[in-house]
Amino acid sequence: MSQDPITRLALELGRLPGIGERSAQRLAYYVIKASHGTGRKSLAHDLATALVECVEQARFCGTCQNLTTSALCGVCSDSRRDKTVICVIEGVADLRAIEASGGYRGVYHVLHGSLSPLEGVGPDDLRLRELVARLGDEVKEIILATNADVEGDATALYVARLVRPYGLKVTRLASGIPMGGELEYVDQATLGRALENRRDF
Ligand SMILES: [Zn+2]
Repeated sequence: MSQDPITRLALELGRLPGIGERSAQRLAYYVIKASHGTGRKSLAHDLATALVECVEQARFCGTCQNLTTSALCGVCSDSRRDKTVICVIEGVADLRAIEASGGYRGVYHVLHGSLSPLEGVGPDDLRLRELVARLGDEVKEIILATNADVEGDATALYVARLVRPYGLKVTRLASGIPMGGELEYVDQATLGRALENRRDF
């Protein structure tokens, strides 16, 4: 690496999803400024510590693949949750969105992505083996809560076909999720309703 440290920081920040070149530069300057201000704790140091601790301590839940710092996540270790219903979602942000909608008492399975041939994401890149491994006698319903876009629909179809032989009830979120809609950005009331009115798939 021959770049100066400021360029290097901007380059690294620019590798994060949703951060363009200009935002990356703005963030880099901000971190430098905030770390040299008077009477202020070093943002750079706090950020670096948080990053390292997070990466060292965070792991995937042994059951649902949610992010956690324990062997099992908060949802899976909660005895009041209904383990017979599994809501299949693309990412951890979707789990947060559904939890915030307040009405769901089942458990989850986080795929960590959606099928996207264009981006080279195939079935082996999703946490599908882990899902199939959970399908014992206890599980009665799979709710397909992938996004309402092309990749999400393709993923829902694939998962449906995969779990069909287990004789489960398979449902998909009701309409109301806007076409092309990413679950994490849908408002809580709409998401709650879509979950309540889920239909057979
Ligand atoms: Zn879990």
